[in-house]
Amino acid sequence: MEHIHCLIVGSGPAGYTAAIYAARAGLKPVLYQGEEPGGQLMLTTEVENFPGYPQGVQGPQMMADLEAQAKRFGTDIRTGFITKVDFSGDKKMVVVGDNEHQIEADTVIVSTGASAKWLGLPSEKRLREAGGGVSSCAVCDGFFHRKKRVVIVGAGDSACEEAAYLANICEKVYMIVRRDEMRASKIMQARVKNKENIEILYNTETKEIIGKELVEAVEVINIENKTTTLLENISGFFVAIGHTPNTQIFKNFLEMDEQGYLITEKGSSRTNLEGIFACGDVQDKTYRQAITAAGSGCIAALDAERYLAALEH
Ligand code: NDP
Repeated sequence: MEHIHCLIVGSGPAGYTAAIYAARAGLKPVLYQGEEPGGQLMLTTEVENFPGYPQGVQGPQMMADLEAQAKRFGTDIRTGFITKVDFSGDKKMVVVGDNEHQIEADTVIVSTGASAKWLGLPSEKRLREAGGGVSSCAVCDGFFHRKKRVVIVGAGDSACEEAAYLANICEKVYMIVRRDEMRASKIMQARVKNKENIEILYNTETKEIIGKELVEAVEVINIENKTTTLLENISGFFVAIGHTPNTQIFKNFLEMDEQGYLITEKGSSRTNLEGIFACGDVQDKTYRQAITAAGSGCIAALDAERYLAALEH
């Protein structure tokens, strides 16, 4: 069993920022990158609102820069996925992968982020895994559907933002909204409603995505009058219905809200357990920005440093 002073789980802006601070404070952090190294920003193109980049920066480039900065101060960055934890004792026990490596940590910083939600249709899963035109990121994959017809599901700010983005490159965008109104802010709704090539279908749900290897059509149902419609000549199916925090492995130990977001003490990164700190989207369903995640990563490292200093005295 390996002993680690400061373990960081997750490699988005929160995890890397925590690593930069923890490494500079001499905590010898070890960071496990998880299933999606770099996190959600790896699925983004231009980031224009992160201070310090007047010309903007590509999301993957920003994550490469953050990783390099964390390495520069001695962070031990590892590929690997934490599959199990036991936080019941003073030492925090963590299992990497398929029981292949066990770790005992003095402190753990959880920055596992959140992942896109899916509708759960078998056709969605099949075509997504086959790279057949089902996506949760318009900015990443919209390009493949230039001048074509696409469908996007969702009615929040993300769905509006992505629908507007798609409308600029695609011939036609159908937006599938399950209620008779959208959840998105008025300004975001206006962006969608002002686009001539976006058709909003209210009270509508997706029944099936049709296509063997590639998306070809989408069958939708109006849940008020139960009529089904086949949207034909569709090449892309985008899902923008929110995110799920990656907290499954912590559920017997850490306090979370009904959606699974970790609960931290106000004004700190402290969880309900001593020595376990949380930062980034895994504990933030409100702001969810790279800059707020990075800020919370800094807070977590400072909290961990104070916790470890108090342990030693
Ligand atoms: P939200 O949780 O705000 O919205 C999710 C949307 O998906 C809702 O409209 C919901 O419908 C719909 N939905 C959920 N499940 C299903 C389903 N199974 N089938 C069909 N529709 C479904 O998530 P977002 O990702 O849009 O936004 C998250 C946060 O990020 C929000 O606070 C948002 O304001 C913020 N944000 C802000 C942006 C900006 O200001 N530029 C851009 C992007 C996000 P229903 O309404 O019926 O529940």
